Amino acid sequence: MRWYKKLHWQIIIGLVLGLLWGLVSASSGWNEFTSGTIRPFGTIFINLLKLVAVPLVLVSLVVGVSSLNNMSRLTRMGGKTILIYLATTLLAITIGLTVVNVVDPGSSLPESTRVSLMENYSGTGTNTKNTSENSILDFLVRIVPQNFFASASENGNMLQIVFVAILLGLGIISIPAQKSQTLIEVFDSLNEVIIKIVDLIMKLAPIGVFALMASVIVDLAGDDLRDAVTLLKALAWYSLTVVAGLLIHVFVVYSVLFKIFSKMKLSDFFRAIRPAILLGFSTSSSLATLPVTMERVEKHLGVAEEVSSFVLPVGATINMDGTSLYQAVAAVFIAQAIGMDLSLAQQLTIVFTATAASIGAAGVPGAGIIMLVIVLQAVQVPVEGIALILGVDRILDMARTAVNVTGDAAVSVAVAHTEGKLGTLHFDD
Ligand code: ASP
Repeated sequence: MRWYKKLHWQIIIGLVLGLLWGLVSASSGWNEFTSGTIRPFGTIFINLLKLVAVPLVLVSLVVGVSSLNNMSRLTRMGGKTILIYLATTLLAITIGLTVVNVVDPGSSLPESTRVSLMENYSGTGTNTKNTSENSILDFLVRIVPQNFFASASENGNMLQIVFVAILLGLGIISIPAQKSQTLIEVFDSLNEVIIKIVDLIMKLAPIGVFALMASVIVDLAGDDLRDAVTLLKALAWYSLTVVAGLLIHVFVVYSVLFKIFSKMKLSDFFRAIRPAILLGFSTSSSLATLPVTMERVEKHLGVAEEVSSFVLPVGATINMDGTSLYQAVAAVFIAQAIGMDLSLAQQLTIVFTATAASIGAAGVPGAGIIMLVIVLQAVQVPVEGIALILGVDRILDMARTAVNVTGDAAVSVAVAHTEGKLGTLHFDD
C-alpha cells in the first residue's frame, strides 16, 4: 500500500494541513470562515465517534463478560486492572512533580506577564467550586444508575454503562445456555456491526482532524496571531515541562510495564495503535477516541475482546496518566509563579488529590483543568491561579489526552498478557 493511503499518514497530513490552515486563517482574517464553515466538519466527526461510544461499550462488554463464563476470572481481571491503573497514575504524578521541581518553570515567569495573564483570564476558570465536594463514596454512588436509559443518554456516564453491561453479562452467564444462546448471538452480531461502523467513521478522520486542528489554532490565535505567540513564549517553560514529563512517562513507565508484563516492544505497540494516539491528540477526548482505541487494541495489538472490552472503557473513564501528570505540574507551577513554596507534605497531598482528580475527570476536552481546582484547594494555592495557564491549556489538553489513550492501551496489553489473552500483532495499515 502506498504510504499516503495509510490511515495514520492521512491523519498526520490532516493535522499538519489543519495547523497551516489555522495559521493562515488567523493571519489573513478568515477566522469567521474557519469557524463557520470548517469547524462543523470537526464537530460532525467527533459527534459520530461519541455516537458509537455508548452502544460499543455496552455491546462489547456484554459479549466480553458472557464469554468469560466464570465470575472469579472477572474479579481477578478487574482487581488487576484497577491496581495497574493506580500504579501508572501514581508514577505519572511522581514524574510530573519531579520534572516541575527540577525545571522550576514558575520562577521564569516575569512579574509583568503574571499580572497581565491574571487580568486577562481571571474569573474564567473559577466557576467550578462544587467539584471539590466529590468524595470516594459519591464516586461509588455515581457508578450505580437508577435508570439505564438516563445513563445511556449521557456520554459522561460511561462507568454506569460499564456497570450495567457487567450486570447484564453476569445475568446472561447465570441462565441455562440454551436460553441465553440467542441473546449472545444478537450481541455478537451487533458488535460486528458497530466495529464496521467505526471503520467507516474513520474514513472521515483526515477531514475531521483537519477541521479540529484548524479550529483549535483559530481559537487560540483569535484575531491576532502575535498575541498567541507572546502567550506561548511566556508559558513556554511551563508547557515544555508538561510535555517533557509526558514523554518521560510514556517512554519509561510503559516500557517498564511491557518489560514486566509482556514481551511487546514499545515501537511495535506504537505502530499498532498510532491512529488512536493521533485521534486522542486531535480530539482532546479519550471518550470520543474510545471506539478507535478498542478497534486498534483488539484488531492490531491482539488483545482479546473479553479483556479490552473491560479494561478500555474503565480506563477511558478513570485512568488518566496524562491528566494527573499535568495537574501535578500545573499546581506546582502556579505555586512557583506566585512565590509560594510547597512543602513535602503539600507535594504529597498533590499526589493523592491529583490521583482523585484524574479519576474524577471525564474523558472530554478541558476536564483536567476543571478538576485541577480540587488539587489547588487541597494545597491552599489560590484557584484564581488557573488564569495563568488557561491560555495554553487547549494545546496541553491534546498532548495529555494522547497520553491518556496510550496508557489505557498499554495497560490492556499488560492485563491481556497476564491472562493469557494476548494474540499476535497486526500492522495492516
Ligand atoms: N481531555 C482529557 C481526556 O479526554 C481530559 C483532560 O482534560 O485532561 O482524556
